[in-house]
Amino acid sequence: MELYSGHINRLIDELAALPGIGTKSAQRLAFHMINMPRDKVERLAKTMVDARENVCYCKECYTLTDQELCPVCSNLKRDHNTIMVVENARDLAAYEKTGKYEGVYHVLHGAISPMLGIGPNDIRLKELMARLEGDVKEVIVATNSSLEGETTAMYIGKLIKPTGIKVTRIASGVPVGGDLEYIDEVTLLRALEGRTEL
Ligand code: ZN
Repeated sequence: MELYSGHINRLIDELAALPGIGTKSAQRLAFHMINMPRDKVERLAKTMVDARENVCYCKECYTLTDQELCPVCSNLKRDHNTIMVVENARDLAAYEKTGKYEGVYHVLHGAISPMLGIGPNDIRLKELMARLEGDVKEVIVATNSSLEGETTAMYIGKLIKPTGIKVTRIASGVPVGGDLEYIDEVTLLRALEGRTEL
């Protein structure tokens, strides 16, 4: 016998399939939604579909944006000769929040992980190398300090060194295995200032 109606069960299943949401949270959210005014539920559903349909990758740095170029890449006051390489758009947001970094970014959308079968061709590395044909004076590798992040940093270092472009790695004041987005701004800035050449 099903405990709830089929509709509620389907809603719980869909919500529970989202990252970070267990069955209990999914149930709580589902029952909350059932009790929400109809127009609010419609707005929520529409917002999700709109975001999915209208968000695209910045053609320069590959972060998620509503425009062809993201606000950082289209800002002429930023230093376009310094590129910080991050694993995802959330890491970019973490550095942006410090308000102290003046360069631009490159979002890899992942990290090399032989264990998960993610190789250099599965992340936006080719796109990074293409950008280096322009006028770039430094590439700051700010991937996470996890095994995957370090593997990716080493790989990028090896790839860029022969071009003669300066390539640096943020200092490892960042806790091992720590996701950049959870680290406070002071630690992020210290890691950036303490960067060393790869
Ligand atoms: Zn951009």
